[in-house]
Amino acid sequence: MIKLIAMDLDGTLMAPDHITVTEKTKAALEKAHDMGIKTVIATGRTLSVINDVLKQVPFVDYVIYSNGAVVYDRCKGKNIYTSCMPAKVAERVVDILESYPVYYELYANGVSNTQESKAGFFKNKDLPPEFLEFYMKSLVNHDNLSEFAKHNEIEKINMFYFDGEFYDEIKEKLFEIEDIAKTSPVSGDIEMTYKGVNKGVALENMCKELCFTPEEVMSFGDADNDIEMLQFAGYGIAMGNASDDCKKVAKYETLSNGEDGIAAAIEKFIFNASKPKLLVSACLLGENCKYNGGNNYTEEVANLKDKFDLIPICPECFGGLPIPRVPNEIINGRAISKNGEDFTAEYEDGAEKTLYIANECNCGYAVLKERSPSCGFGKIYDGSFTGTLVDGNGITADLLDQNDICIFGESQINKLLDLFDF
Ligand code: SF4
Repeated sequence: MIKLIAMDLDGTLMAPDHITVTEKTKAALEKAHDMGIKTVIATGRTLSVINDVLKQVPFVDYVIYSNGAVVYDRCKGKNIYTSCMPAKVAERVVDILESYPVYYELYANGVSNTQESKAGFFKNKDLPPEFLEFYMKSLVNHDNLSEFAKHNEIEKINMFYFDGEFYDEIKEKLFEIEDIAKTSPVSGDIEMTYKGVNKGVALENMCKELCFTPEEVMSFGDADNDIEMLQFAGYGIAMGNASDDCKKVAKYETLSNGEDGIAAAIEKFIFNASKPKLLVSACLLGENCKYNGGNNYTEEVANLKDKFDLIPICPECFGGLPIPRVPNEIINGRAISKNGEDFTAEYEDGAEKTLYIANECNCGYAVLKERSPSCGFGKIYDGSFTGTLVDGNGITADLLDQNDICIFGESQINKLLDLFDF
């Protein structure tokens, strides 16, 4: 069962304008959230640049920002995980960038910091002008970024859209620094965090806190800084517009961000994924509820959990009979023990309770223990306690059958699977 959805922003949650979350995607996420599923934005942006996004999806529970350097819990209003660059590492990166005509930003304290004198180096041919205008307004200007790096905890350093002749030279120098993790989600960009920091590690730490397994996580992404997050999640889903490397590591692929890919995948894997319900004799699943205190564990029945929501029932226990108990068989429609005592009332009580559960769960199918005086269907023991079989039903199986519940014995699992076309 999916308990958490993590999604990148640009190219994933956001429409191609980088500003809007479409109504369809918003509605799917909100419905999933109402079902108790936690929602997480995982972005390379800083926290301050996503306030407008959060206004559109106010139900989002957590934000992983600065490429995984920080996890912010919106309910608690505080960071619950941080992994910033040590000052010496940040200063070394800044020294390299300062010696070239490039535009870069230092992400710290949830905002993006820059130096106005470098604005002339900022080039972008791809981003929509409205988004760029909004983005530029969110920046905090400083006189000297080298000084800023010395006195602040740096979450991420971003060199933007550089297509000058020094690109390879800069890249080579930056890549010599072993203590930084580097990624280039778009051409000409180099994003740097402290080594070991990425969205996948941040997500993993969050899930440990929440006691969620990777199988319970769905993640969406499109760019190379989403790769670790896609690898971590049991449902790692690449957008239709994702990079080839993302598609290679993702387990599934959905439509593009322009086609509401997140909504399509949520529809498929969450809203349409509820399994059919199946009543099952508890002893077949290994519960020690049999008359002698043992069970009738059957692997093929237990494996049905992958395809059905199993609802274990033990009518004899529901009827108040103890474990262990004297065995019963059916004689003239009555449950008679080997000692000659009549337990029909307890058997009927257990049958009524089982039918009630079936109705409450809207369950139309059952796998019941063959030959039992409660659960047997079609053939049961004849009442002589000699192992002789006769045509007939156990008391519970009979009541379920009268109420149109389709019954299979443990030797008929293939028939059941055929019926559901599994
Ligand atoms: Fe198994 Fe049914 Fe007997 Fe309970 S009543 S022990 S479920 S066969």
